Amino acid sequence: MTESATPSRIILIGPPGAGKGTQAARLAERLGVPAISTGDIFRANVAQRTELGQQAQRYMDAGEYVPDEVTNAMVADRLAAEDASGGFLLDGYPRTEAQVAELDRMLESSGASIDVVLELTADTDELVTRLLGRAAEQNRSDDTEPVIRRRLEVYSEQTAPLVTLYDERGLLVRVDGLGTVDEVTQRILDALG
Ligand code: ADP
Repeated sequence: MTESATPSRIILIGPPGAGKGTQAARLAERLGVPAISTGDIFRANVAQRTELGQQAQRYMDAGEYVPDEVTNAMVADRLAAEDASGGFLLDGYPRTEAQVAELDRMLESSGASIDVVLELTADTDELVTRLLGRAAEQNRSDDTEPVIRRRLEVYSEQTAPLVTLYDERGLLVRVDGLGTVDEVTQRILDALG
């Protein structure tokens, strides 16, 4: 009984800098499912100069979303892999209403469904501080201040509405992303029950 109650198909949603990537890796390990980060997959493709990377790079560098068709095809591919058959943690997808619709279709065709949508929250000042800090450490090409501001804007225009949508479906769990990494992980695990 308790085993089947553990959610295994999870979406992590939240603004840039909320800590999704950090928490996704920890949670995936705890829950024994792969963390699938669209941002990481795009960055790996950019680094390897694949065709997908070339398609994505200019959008990423401008703080804009990569077109839905490109992103959806990539995620469909990844979710079809064997290791995702028992569950997954999606970090950074879906980010638009069209992506939600596409994810619904993908899951429906395999008879699966999302168990929980975890929203990680943090206020804008904290987000900008964190992202600028990360820029200094990691040298990410989309972590300059104007691009950071644009990413936050795009999030509130295109992705924040998805929080309401999933809340209406009864799937939303909101977790405060402020505090130490350990504190936030614990909060999430408590919220997942
Ligand atoms: P962050 O959440 O910090 O903005 P990510 O690593 O999740 O960073 O994403 C980096 C960039 O990759 C985004 O700004 C966007 O250009 C692209 N990207 C990632 N996921 C998606 C998605 N689901 N749809 C469109 N573009 C995406």
